[in-house]
Amino acid sequence: MNLAKDIENEVFRAVSKVGQEKGLSAFVIGGFVRDLILKRPSKDIDIVVLGSGLKMAEWAAKELGVKKVAYYKNFGTAAFKYNDLEVEFVGARKESYDRNSRKPIVENGSLADDQNRRDFTINALAISLNRSSFGEVIDPFDGLVDIKNKIIRTPLEPDKTYSDDPLRMLRAIRFSTQLGFKIEDESFDAIKENAKRLEIISQERITDELNKIILADQPSRGFKLLFDTQLLHEFFPEMIALHGVDKKDGKAHKDNFYHTLEVLDNISKNTDDLWLRWAAIMHDIGKPRTKRFHPKAGWTFHGHEEVGMRMTKGIFKKLKLPLDAKLKYVQKLVRLHLRPIALVNGSVTDTAVRRLLFEAGDDIDDLMTLCNADITSKNEMKVQKYRRNFENVRRKLKSVEEKDHVRNFQPPITGEEIMDIFGLKPCKTVGDLKNEIKEAILEGTIRNNYNDAYTYMLEQAEKLDIHPRKR
Ligand code: ATP
Repeated sequence: MNLAKDIENEVFRAVSKVGQEKGLSAFVIGGFVRDLILKRPSKDIDIVVLGSGLKMAEWAAKELGVKKVAYYKNFGTAAFKYNDLEVEFVGARKESYDRNSRKPIVENGSLADDQNRRDFTINALAISLNRSSFGEVIDPFDGLVDIKNKIIRTPLEPDKTYSDDPLRMLRAIRFSTQLGFKIEDESFDAIKENAKRLEIISQERITDELNKIILADQPSRGFKLLFDTQLLHEFFPEMIALHGVDKKDGKAHKDNFYHTLEVLDNISKNTDDLWLRWAAIMHDIGKPRTKRFHPKAGWTFHGHEEVGMRMTKGIFKKLKLPLDAKLKYVQKLVRLHLRPIALVNGSVTDTAVRRLLFEAGDDIDDLMTLCNADITSKNEMKVQKYRRNFENVRRKLKSVEEKDHVRNFQPPITGEEIMDIFGLKPCKTVGDLKNEIKEAILEGTIRNNYNDAYTYMLEQAEKLDIHPRKR
């Protein structure tokens, strides 16, 4: 196969020209080639050089008029940006592994050595940039056939490949999920066999791969593979605890693991936001800890949203996910995820709607997206009916917000003003009065404006025997 026509771009032309002049062979390799064949857009170009990658980077940059080249001498790589492309150069290498580390011992090698060290046949493809064979595909492991058949396979023996660098197990599942490829059976068994080896991989790298799985079109595919290979058991036991069904007196509850995956797939059709997808993963995480059986009511999970909210922090910490506003956002959605559904079931009062708007604030739309995704049932009629009712709640939220503006609630009278009006120093009474105004607005006793709030505040102050100071 020759792909010369598909790599007509200045970077490849420059490398080819410089290679010819300096007598160095160079090849595009790895993900870029895979994605080129799959027609997936890719901005990362890896170039392997038979000789010094650093020198080749320097010469190619000069040829292209690129001023800034970053040299990573420790890794023997160099990289520069050209327009929107990230181009990285490395000398061809041969690798061998020590059992306790995923960091290989590296020596200079041939192109074949370099292809041997690649994780999957589809990632071992190379395209020649040498003038005499420009565009020719070098495919020692039938990666092209595997792309056609949608198969993830290791170039060398799977057991050794995964044991040498256990991160590859997660990469296999990640690629399988992103590309919709099947992991061939031998590889699958080897991953299962080596699952415990994940312990030598840093949490950051594990989470990095996990987030890529979560961002795929159908993340459930990845989670099912993580579960079936038992990799998930190694780093996310709280999710494993969702798995399974208990039955008592003929009453069973749903399998919360598969339910969560359904919610995650549902939400992924409506958002590419990683954190909203994380909220879907976490929304029922508190269920196993709150599960009870009552002879009359059957299985209940009372308070699982609060417990789940609290568990989220520990899980984020352990998985080395951010502990900033992203965590707070996920926690808020987990805590509130039952509220819109409760509105579907009951008669919707303006007060309940105002309270929800007040608590969710700007995240109300995301909360509604989560709740909509949470509607799952084998009975399609039931789902449709629920969705219709849910639309009523949406309309109600909209009309109440237009009327009352509580979504971004700002107190109509500030604490400063209260102190000034009554001649008070900062004290509990100021907070109490402010709170009473807020509650009256949420309850619908008064409208959300200054005049109503002012009159109401005077009435409340009167009851406390507090009077405006004379001016
Ligand atoms: P993506 O850009 O989607 O992450 P990619 O294949 O380009 O996909 P990179 O992590 O950038 O992924 O790796 C580039 C190439 O390096 C891969 O295509 C593969 O050939 C090789 N590679 C990366 N990680 C490993 C690994 N752990 N073991 C063996 N080869 C690897």
